[in-house]
Amino acid sequence: TTEIYTLSLHDALPIFSPLHSNGRAELRDEKVVMPFGDLAPRPDIRPEVLLKLSGKLQTTLELSQLIEIFFTEIQQAVLIDGLTFNHAPNNILLSQGKASVHSASYRLQTQQDYMGDLMFHRSTRFREHELANIEGLLSTLVYPLRNALRYHEALAAAFRDPLTGAGNRVALDKTLSREIELAKRHGQDLSILMLDLDHFKRVNDEFGHGMGDRVLKEAVLSMTDCIRQTDMCFRYGGEEFLIMLSSAEEAGALRIAERIRMSINELRFTGDKGTLQVSASIGCSSLKGDDSMESLITRADEALYVAKKHGRNCVISDCDMAIPEPLDTQTVPTPNPNR
Ligand code: GH3
Ligand code: MG
Ligand code: MG
Repeated sequence: TTEIYTLSLHDALPIFSPLHSNGRAELRDEKVVMPFGDLAPRPDIRPEVLLKLSGKLQTTLELSQLIEIFFTEIQQAVLIDGLTFNHAPNNILLSQGKASVHSASYRLQTQQDYMGDLMFHRSTRFREHELANIEGLLSTLVYPLRNALRYHEALAAAFRDPLTGAGNRVALDKTLSREIELAKRHGQDLSILMLDLDHFKRVNDEFGHGMGDRVLKEAVLSMTDCIRQTDMCFRYGGEEFLIMLSSAEEAGALRIAERIRMSINELRFTGDKGTLQVSASIGCSSLKGDDSMESLITRADEALYVAKKHGRNCVISDCDMAIPEPLDTQTVPTPNPNR
């Protein structure tokens, strides 16, 4: 079914709140300006400028392009040195031009959505009528910006596993292949970890699927807590994860793997059937000159297999895979005498 939403006029009215004070735009140099008050100057922008600006803003859904167009086009009404757009919840920070000593900030907020903060920079003070113009120009940005933010969110969601928030397979393919290429070109290290939760079927069987889901989410939080901002965690399959460690050589990767293994093992889950403790096995591989994405993943997978054979809850690197005797002989396939 298709749902149709109606925007009431009231809803459509954007609210620009100048940052840091009660309904006033405040400049860095402590000067306070009233926006749109009876005594404040009204925007004085030629209609054709507004028309051209809103036409151009509708040509893109890409946030960075949108901010660039806005920065370029508003120069016809107010000269500014730089513009910064910040949307902390979505982790977006975009800049155009340069930062200067004077600035004026606006929080863009409709009744429904927070749409980010915009900061205008200039080497000379903003005058009151210029702020009025900025506020007039901002009205053209509201809908294009809202659309661009939704587009950005949709794209981000398309690359994420909904249960755990980890990257999905599509994101993995794109990110890892690009990262391998970059590491090779710049002669940098790159390692990956393949992590699989141990006896996870039992968690579901004994504690229920809901508990299984909870464990998956918590395990991903443990993984992301142990890695750096530039590293990434992807859901590879059901209870299997791939962690990409940029600029990490084997020893560094093994240290991180061990930290992850320990922090997952330290988790405790309480349910009606008592307290549950889980563990993970991890295989690690480090990039070699002739590696493809497939060969790198295969080596991590093989190391993970050895870690499972070695008794689980441990880390094995692709360099120490010559582990002689499998401890868990029951799962080694035995020849079928009937064949
Ligand atoms: P091993 O130590 O050898 O890895 O044993 P295992 O039980 O973890 O491995 P197996 O592959 O036999 O079982 C994986 C289980 O993970 C089976 C499946 O039901 C469960 N699983 C996969 N995806 C999800 C999920 O999204 N939620 C929940 N609750 N369980 C899941
Ligand atoms: Mg498993
Ligand atoms: Mg598995």
